[in-house]
Amino acid sequence: MNQESEGKQFLNSVHHYYDQAARHTNLDSGILEQIKICNSVYKVNFPVEVDGKVVVYEGIRAQHSHHKLPTKGGIRYSMHVDEDEVIALATLMTFKCALVDVPFGGAKGGVKINPRTTPVEVLEKVTRRYASELIKKNLIGPGVDVPAPDYGTGSREMAWIADTYHTFKHGETNALGSVTGKPVGQGGIRGRTEATGLGIFYGLREALQDTEILNQLGISPGLSGKRMIVQGLGNVGYHATHFCQQEGVIIIGIAEREGGIFNKDGIDLEAAFLHRKNTGSILDFPDATNIANSLDLLAYECDILLPAALENQIDHRNAATIQAKIIAEGANGPITQEGEKILLQKGIFIIPDLYLNAGGVTVSYFEWLKNLSNVRFGRMGKRAEEASLRRIVDTIEQHTGHTISAKERQMLIHGADEVDLV
Ligand code: GLU
Repeated sequence: MNQESEGKQFLNSVHHYYDQAARHTNLDSGILEQIKICNSVYKVNFPVEVDGKVVVYEGIRAQHSHHKLPTKGGIRYSMHVDEDEVIALATLMTFKCALVDVPFGGAKGGVKINPRTTPVEVLEKVTRRYASELIKKNLIGPGVDVPAPDYGTGSREMAWIADTYHTFKHGETNALGSVTGKPVGQGGIRGRTEATGLGIFYGLREALQDTEILNQLGISPGLSGKRMIVQGLGNVGYHATHFCQQEGVIIIGIAEREGGIFNKDGIDLEAAFLHRKNTGSILDFPDATNIANSLDLLAYECDILLPAALENQIDHRNAATIQAKIIAEGANGPITQEGEKILLQKGIFIIPDLYLNAGGVTVSYFEWLKNLSNVRFGRMGKRAEEASLRRIVDTIEQHTGHTISAKERQMLIHGADEVDLV
């Protein structure tokens, strides 16, 4: 299957889920069409000099819904990037933001580039040029559209974008609010890096306390002792499994691009992560068996399967082989519509992406608020910093009408690392 049809298939799945949900509303068909459709897509090809030669890169930014501004969503760097894929991801962002009640429309961007094989100086040039193209068209800004990290990008790329924005918009108040996921020292916020993974952990922990779900699946309550297989040890997969392992989850399999590893008695996540960092591969990790085709690992028996890499990983071809009791959608759209049908027939419980991975954009909202209020936490004393954060949390409570629990409040004010998560 070529990449273009993969993107189309993803968009079809997202539209299929939308149509399914829309049937439960009383909204007029025109309104439903307007909510479904992507408001705008910008495609740009730009040149960057690499080793004395011009290389043309393709960049996309889709703003799915302008019903609330700014629009919000990550930028991904991958050779899979295409227009349909980016639209599908932007669409998911609209519904994700609505679900967690952060007042943003959905957006997503992408550059067709392999971030692993591209030298860092080229990545910087490409990122700055892509940001400049968005600035030129007024497609980025604290009140317009606020990008964030996604697959293949992180705080380093966000810092380059913020700096480029700042350069062009010299003197603009709140310029740092033009992008989230920045390094803490450059206008970022503590907890953003681990936020998506921590949200997945919270979502799973809740699911495993829900009597209805437990009865349906015939499993014992609580995360402790549950066996998990994770696909993707990027920012999302790593942090989600890190928090789960701390709670007593046994990580029995890790699937990566280059292959997978399996040990029915459990794998030490931190050691496996270090092994991959040092050797460049998850394979040949001591005390685990190599699995040549990492997709095979998804079919191994386990309690929780956590796809945390890319879309379309479970489809009509492999859905019937899945033996997990719960699939936790860490990635956006890891299950196709045909795949989902088969999984549901098998009685597998799916925790959807919109809900499960919304922690990232939720903490992005706090970062954006921090930037808009021009609060410099880094230079304040600890007490003053906490007082400011407390004010922001109060503002969010008033603004959204939601009550933030004592534990969540503590995490937001003191940071995840200082909180007893158990
Ligand atoms: N890329 C992340 C997502 O898919 C985060 C987006 C954001 O923080 O704006 O939810």
